[in-house]
Amino acid sequence: AKERGKNNYQMFTPAMQAKTNLRMEMERALRQALERDEFVVHYQAKVETVSGRVVGMEALARWQSPGKGLVMPGQFIPVAEESGLITAIGKVILRQACRQASRWQTMTGRDLRLAVNVSAKQLYQPEFVETVETILRETGLAPGLLELEVTESVVMHQDTAANRTLLELAALGVSLAIDDFGTGYSSLYYLKHFPIDTLKIDRGFVRDIGRDANDAAIVGAIVSLGHSLGLSVVAEGVETAEQLAYLRALGCDLCQGYYFSEPAPAEQFAELLPWP
Ligand code: C2E
Ligand code: CA
Ligand code: CA
Ligand code: CA
Repeated sequence: AKERGKNNYQMFTPAMQAKTNLRMEMERALRQALERDEFVVHYQAKVETVSGRVVGMEALARWQSPGKGLVMPGQFIPVAEESGLITAIGKVILRQACRQASRWQTMTGRDLRLAVNVSAKQLYQPEFVETVETILRETGLAPGLLELEVTESVVMHQDTAANRTLLELAALGVSLAIDDFGTGYSSLYYLKHFPIDTLKIDRGFVRDIGRDANDAAIVGAIVSLGHSLGLSVVAEGVETAEQLAYLRALGCDLCQGYYFSEPAPAEQFAELLPWP
């Protein structure tokens, strides 16, 4: 009882201290990784559901650490966001991915669309639109080939600065996709008020699509909603031929998942592209 009483006063438990130390260590390591240019981009194909053609790719961040090996975003993005380092890391990823997509477009003669994940912190820095504009100019990627994937929470900000950022991006010709659609806020208000081009159905609804009638109904409803608003609909996490068949029957435009390809480094991903 005495121990418990004591703990009540302690703002900082040893467990919290350990967590803070780990977080600070990660932050220091990420800073160094930025200086040493250790972030790389892996690419995963987006495939046209009807034809099976590769029409684009999603850029996924990886940290190639000399000590830890290949570190996945789940292990560093949260700390990058909390510490604000995400703006610098995101810029590196965006530049690398745009440069690569521009090269692929030149080499294949195809208008492959590039999707890049963007966090709220990044999108709402005052200079974000300028950063995107500069990167597109430097890399020569047509704005129409770039799509930014944001989560629902990002478009729920209803302040005017946020709204302006999205409108300016749309004016540039850059597209906007709502990632993990259906998992966030239940309000669909933003669909009416923001310049959105694509809905990306979360993997959680795709997984059991052949076994769970509710999931199939939800996916069908998202496809109808998207299409009646003139939006393109993408399913993520497609792993089986059965899931693909359902998505085709439901009219989902694009699919992405291990069934077609796992995220891979540029050279490996390039083997999937339609070479002339
Ligand atoms: P996300 O945007 O929802 O990306 C999809 C995740 O699902 C990726 O994990 C991808 O590798 C994985 N995935 C793809 N197909 C399948 C499949 O068929 N089955 C299963 N089980 N998983 C599949 P990853 O690469 O580990 O990325 C995790 C998350 O990290 C992403 O989720 C995204 O939110 C974030 N992220 C990745 N790269 C960036 C980035 O450059 N910037 C920001 N802000 N976030 C990023
Ligand atoms: Ca995404
Ligand atoms: Ca997603
Ligand atoms: Ca997801």
